[in-house]
Amino acid sequence: MIDLPAEPTHEEDGEPALQALPGLPNTVRPLRFDVRLLPPDLADWRGGNTGLPGIMQFRSGTPGPHVAVTALMHGNEIAGAIVLDALLRDRFRPIRGTLTLGFLNLAAFDRFDAAEPTASRFVDEDMNRVWDPAILDGNRETTELDRARALRPLLDSVDILLDLHSMLWPSEPLILSGPTAKGRRLAATLGTPPTVVADHGHQSGPRLIDYGRFADPAAAPVACLVEAGPHWEAETVDTARIAVQSLLRTTGMIDHAPLPGPVPRIRSASVTQVITATTASFAFVRAFRGGDVIRKRGTLIAHDGGIEIRTPHDDCLLVMPSLRPSRGHTAVRLAQLLDHS
Ligand SMILES: [Zn+2]
Repeated sequence: MIDLPAEPTHEEDGEPALQALPGLPNTVRPLRFDVRLLPPDLADWRGGNTGLPGIMQFRSGTPGPHVAVTALMHGNEIAGAIVLDALLRDRFRPIRGTLTLGFLNLAAFDRFDAAEPTASRFVDEDMNRVWDPAILDGNRETTELDRARALRPLLDSVDILLDLHSMLWPSEPLILSGPTAKGRRLAATLGTPPTVVADHGHQSGPRLIDYGRFADPAAAPVACLVEAGPHWEAETVDTARIAVQSLLRTTGMIDHAPLPGPVPRIRSASVTQVITATTASFAFVRAFRGGDVIRKRGTLIAHDGGIEIRTPHDDCLLVMPSLRPSRGHTAVRLAQLLDHS
């Protein structure tokens, strides 16, 4: 279980932050998280086979899409890396098209320390907030921007992308599809995790799934982000593995093998409101889990200083609540359930 930490050192859902709670010394305090996964040994893939470190690519020789599965956009989200490492060790090869398996932020991953597992989310800045051509074409230099720039030509050749992530706070797994219909279609096709949330990303910068070609409704390339569960739990690896298998199956990279179980019913939602903590005393009325649904409009869910935060509509899905948000950071995103078949 996750002990409620004092403060994430690398903010999960907003701008990168290294700050203590107001009123406390501005030092990074140690956190207590149980890490139940061993980080994979990526030595065999570190050199890559494309000229790009950490990028492994396999061409089937048969026409088909260029499918990419990426992990370690955040260096401490090791579950997805475990899944890709296992695929590579199994010598998986696609039967059509091209498959790219990528470990994105190796510099951050190399700093992973189970004793302080939140500290290695990134080195200089959140790599999943830089996918704006203006930022990528700009002059700013960080570890993450250097890496993003190196990866850009590869990503410009991808047709279908699945970016594997995990979550700090307790939450049901989910797929973030971005705002496009093609993203929602891809997410629904995967079927795992069975909750699909359409959203517009973060004010602090575009994610990879928001990058030009993937976000352009008129362009064919499509991308989704899987939040497979809590960062360091075995179930998260299982969820990510099933999502990847589903992608490989639906894109024709493997023969139509039977699904591991009944196809789950998809629960779809669309983000309607981003709740940002405006005070240091933001507090939910109880320890919500991501995926919780508040049925009634107007239900009190949090206090932000003297302000009451209430659900703006019925059937309100709580997306990745951050139980200890710092001021100025996203506390939760609220989504309207579109169906609950
Ligand atoms: Zn992440």
